[in-house]
Amino acid sequence: MTARKHLIAGNWKMNETYSEGVTLAQELANCLKSGTVEADVVVCPPFVDLKGVSGVIEFDSAPFELGAQNVYWEPSGAYTGEISCDMLKSVGATYCIIGHSERRDYFHETDEDINKKAQALLSAHIIPILCCGEDEHVREAGNHVAHVTAQIKAALQNISISDPCALVIAYEPIWAIGTGKTATPEDAEEVCAAIRETLATCLGEEIAQGIRILYGGSAKPGNIEGFLEKDNVDGALVGGASLVASDFAQMVDRA
Ligand code: PEP
Repeated sequence: MTARKHLIAGNWKMNETYSEGVTLAQELANCLKSGTVEADVVVCPPFVDLKGVSGVIEFDSAPFELGAQNVYWEPSGAYTGEISCDMLKSVGATYCIIGHSERRDYFHETDEDINKKAQALLSAHIIPILCCGEDEHVREAGNHVAHVTAQIKAALQNISISDPCALVIAYEPIWAIGTGKTATPEDAEEVCAAIRETLATCLGEEIAQGIRILYGGSAKPGNIEGFLEKDNVDGALVGGASLVASDFAQMVDRA
């Protein structure tokens, strides 16, 4: 099987003012620098914190990369409140979360929007962390695999990539996000294996084998190892636990 380096990504969501964000990034840098970091690590702060966190990465030689939580696909113009790929690049972002369930639910983002964002990011050489996942009704009806694989196919329409590291997928069952309910490692593996098969159909077998698929949903230091032991789970997208530097650093350590 292709060796895939683990990736641990922190989604700060709408938390941390500018100065709080800088402090959290410094704390994380200190925690990580006291150990050996074998995984790739990304933090995704709110837009206004990006520049401050990129300063910590640069000046404190922090062993993590910078990600955004959203992007707009147009390059510039009259789109009040939106942020372009070039703007993200100008502050050092190398990753960007797209298709998070909170954006799909609260901001009515469609699969078509997510596909446009993926295309714009790939053209700009920013790595999309493409989120997918089912709600509890879909899961109870037993349709979770079909639902998630349809989201992936729609998001990747007309996309081809030549480097598997150019794209990351995050499987996040909605019923497990911020609820304290986690999927079991077996639940995650079932869906992540199906995602990999879908990636093979969309992008080719070789590329699919190299793409990292993360699990997200109440992941924490006490449960991350069970997920990482699974063949098709290559890391975690972490919400709540990424706001506590020592917890997030422990998760990186376990990866
Ligand atoms: C998330 O929203 O991406 C997430 C995984 O959140 P939490 O870890 O808090 O469930």
